[in-house]
Amino acid sequence: MADIIQLLPDHVANQIAAGEVVQRPASVVKELLENAIDAGSDTIKLIIKDAGKTLIQVIDNGKGMSVTDARLSFERHATSKIRNAEDLFQLNTKGFRGEALASIAAIAHVALKTKQALDDVGTSIEIEGSEVVSQEVVVTPKGTSISVKNLFFNIPARRNFLKSDTVELRHVIDEFHRVALAHPNISFLFYNNGSENFNLPVSNYRQRIVNIFGNKTNEKLVPVEEDTEVLKISGFVGKPEFAKKTRSEQYFFVNNRFIKSAYLNHAILSAFEGLLKTGTHPSYFLNLTVDPQTIDINIHPTKTEIKFDDEHTLYAILRSAVKHSLGQFNIAPVLDFERDATLDTPYSLKGSKTETPKIEVDSNFNPFQEAKTPSTTQSASYKKPPTENWESLYVGLESKSNEASSFKEITFESDSKISALFEDTETSEAVNTTYQFHNKYIISSIKSGMLVIDQSRAHQRILYEDFLKDITVKVGVSQQLLFPLELHFTSQELDIIKQLQEDLEHTGFVFSNSTEESLEIKGVPVMVPESEISIILEQLISDVQNEVPDANFSATDLLAKSMAKSLAIKTGQSLKKDEQEHIVNKLFACKEPNVSPTNRITFITVGVDELDKKFI
Ligand code: ADP
Ligand code: MG
Repeated sequence: MADIIQLLPDHVANQIAAGEVVQRPASVVKELLENAIDAGSDTIKLIIKDAGKTLIQVIDNGKGMSVTDARLSFERHATSKIRNAEDLFQLNTKGFRGEALASIAAIAHVALKTKQALDDVGTSIEIEGSEVVSQEVVVTPKGTSISVKNLFFNIPARRNFLKSDTVELRHVIDEFHRVALAHPNISFLFYNNGSENFNLPVSNYRQRIVNIFGNKTNEKLVPVEEDTEVLKISGFVGKPEFAKKTRSEQYFFVNNRFIKSAYLNHAILSAFEGLLKTGTHPSYFLNLTVDPQTIDINIHPTKTEIKFDDEHTLYAILRSAVKHSLGQFNIAPVLDFERDATLDTPYSLKGSKTETPKIEVDSNFNPFQEAKTPSTTQSASYKKPPTENWESLYVGLESKSNEASSFKEITFESDSKISALFEDTETSEAVNTTYQFHNKYIISSIKSGMLVIDQSRAHQRILYEDFLKDITVKVGVSQQLLFPLELHFTSQELDIIKQLQEDLEHTGFVFSNSTEESLEIKGVPVMVPESEISIILEQLISDVQNEVPDANFSATDLLAKSMAKSLAIKTGQSLKKDEQEHIVNKLFACKEPNVSPTNRITFITVGVDELDKKFI
């Protein structure tokens, strides 16, 4: 038969890559601003027209590019920032993929002017849909100016996906805020449709925040400083009484890069516990500095997500630093030994009428009669439990004594290549020799060598397939909450949850009343601890918001991915023997054990022959 595989032409590959990098004008703004920062500029000007749909221009006074570099910068994987894979672990630049300019040039009209300090003249290049239409020598100041016009001119479907100018402008401004907040040592100017929106001079961090969010912000800020071996924190949190109805003033920067983390957000919320009125969100502007070797920023193409080696420790340090600051600045109640704290009225009851306590006696109570229902917290609202395979729903890893026997029943549905790994060994039905390495990998021996499994990715795969099954088969088991939980969201966030409500219910969520800005939850999937509910939903919302709207978008899939990500065991978590075995066995019972839900490999095999070679 004739060969049918072809290499995609570059411009097609670039357009595909552009789908990942450029979702909307704000993505272009981010990439161009980051390039200007990487070029060592101290003044950066951003000019946009029609929310960036017509024009986005960034002018910097950085180091500029030589003629050859100017041309090369538009090639895919052309970067001056890393040379080999090891460099990824000591990144101190924003970019490193070498994809942004190539992607942008594939889907817009781009004009570049650039000059290095010591050159007399510079270079001007124009590119339209990946094709160079002109290259000339020009007189231009030191630095680089890139203008991007008519975004998505050649992909009408994407252009139609763009929202109204108001919405797109909001995204551009958000992106601008993030970059400007991370770099108070650079001066930024922002012009929108010909008028100056921001003029931010070089300043200290507090002043930068005030210049962006207005003079009134100054009195709201409480400094947070902490310096430990693994994490340095500096920045500000907002005083609780100024907490906002939306989450718009919440910023984490890790090594000067804006990131989103529902988990770290939760650390802050828990530091504010008891201080916030319901439905309000504290502001924070926090810079975290960690050893670049301990993070993986490669996880998301637009790089707002980050993977920490040891999230638990960061959580604890962050929480205590914020708590300490709130306490020090007399914001949180401090311990006072002179005073009888039992006389204090809790904040939430302040001003409410007192009530005489009533005593309720159950006259039918007979202490000698055995309780019929085993527990009040867990039993009440089980949906019809599925008859078979229900154990697989209990994936919270609290392995019970009888779990070992249930392993015997696992059938390997996976393809023959995977099952072959286990053939002919005494462990053909279930793995029983495992070893955990660096609280990150599970090592297990197989006939031909050994398996090295990434514990977190493997668990994500397991949970993901379980959730998908729950959602499609609609058998999620629910656990009723003792007290319904009321969570507050903005109306956009609630819309997202409502779109997913039916699927969420299939996983075991039970919703009761929802108002315009709050949601009441009566039940959750069995494996979801109550303390994690808000983290999971926040993560879900942010995942949906970050999703590129394309044909492959499936809300069900995203929900399963997001929940799996939130609930999976993390790197850094130590696992008991039976937990390790449980993961290995469940992984290989998955339909696609080789990759995590986000398509990253879950395990590698090291053959005895490979090892033998090393011992020659
Ligand atoms: P990356 O930033 O990941 O390296 P880009 O496609 O964004 O990839 O940019 C490609 C290269 O072009 C950069 O590595 C850099 O050398 C050069 N470049 C881009 N923008 C600028 C700029 N404003 N000033 C100087 N050099 C730039
Ligand atoms: Mg870049």
